[in-house]
Amino acid sequence: MTNDLSGKTAVVTGASRGLGAEIAHTFAHAGSRVILLARSSDQLQSLAAELPNDPAMIVTDLSQPDSWQNAAEQVNNLGHDIDILVNNAGTGAHTTMADMQAADFDQVMMVNVRNLVLLTHALTPKLVATRGSVVNISSVASQSGLVGHVAYSTSKGAVEAFTRNAAIDLGRYGVRVNAVAPRLIDDGMWKHAFDTGTDREATMSRMGNLIPLEGRWGSAADIAEAVSWLASERAGYITGQVLRVDGGMK
Ligand code: NAP
Repeated sequence: MTNDLSGKTAVVTGASRGLGAEIAHTFAHAGSRVILLARSSDQLQSLAAELPNDPAMIVTDLSQPDSWQNAAEQVNNLGHDIDILVNNAGTGAHTTMADMQAADFDQVMMVNVRNLVLLTHALTPKLVATRGSVVNISSVASQSGLVGHVAYSTSKGAVEAFTRNAAIDLGRYGVRVNAVAPRLIDDGMWKHAFDTGTDREATMSRMGNLIPLEGRWGSAADIAEAVSWLASERAGYITGQVLRVDGGMK
């Protein structure tokens, strides 16, 4: 059974590859028009060319202080109602406590937190008008931490706090706000690590031993399914939640 998103319009940030591209794909095939946002215009263009329901694209760099305004302006200029916002764009930096650079920390917080919060703020009137839904992509790193990724884990803790607070603020308007927290996903950031030298087989086997559900790493489709369910009316009484999609791994 698919989650019916027909007639909806969804903004998906970080849609050029990885989890965001799969979320956009799933949404479009569930009947939604998707507005794809990222920096890589070629990748957005190739994805848009494959998708049904008249997709649109917005090329912007969310690491700039005013990019939330720029992104919201471009969304508004398209003239569509907005039913769903998926805040998926995310970045990391190798920043242990010992070697952390302020600029790296700021960049992670800018993309993962500041512009996520402010873009949601800027699109709130549209989401209120449709009694829409927001799904933020967090990470279980918010709870478990991740070696060498103190900025990333900190940012995801903020995403989850924001999710709970925005759900309280927007609930009175019928707008739901939830988050999905993936664990080990064989795509996106991990695909990049495997493509640039991390030993895929050894890593998947070593870490797979820690995953209760058949030792299986998650797929981008596992995440997209959870996001589309939370965004759909089938999850109509669920708000302020962080759904871990982790194969049972704590
Ligand atoms: P990914 O393959 O690196 O994709 C990240 C996406 O975010 C890309 O579309 C990228 O597009 C966009 N993005 C990054 N910086 C941006 C910027 N400055 N401005 C605009 N867009 C930007 O990573 P992924 O694994 O799919 O990650 C997607 C989300 O899942 C992230 O929030 C990540 O934290 C979360 N997550 C992933 C995993 C995993 O195992 N893969 C686990 C837990 C959480 P451009 O480069 O084209 O701009």
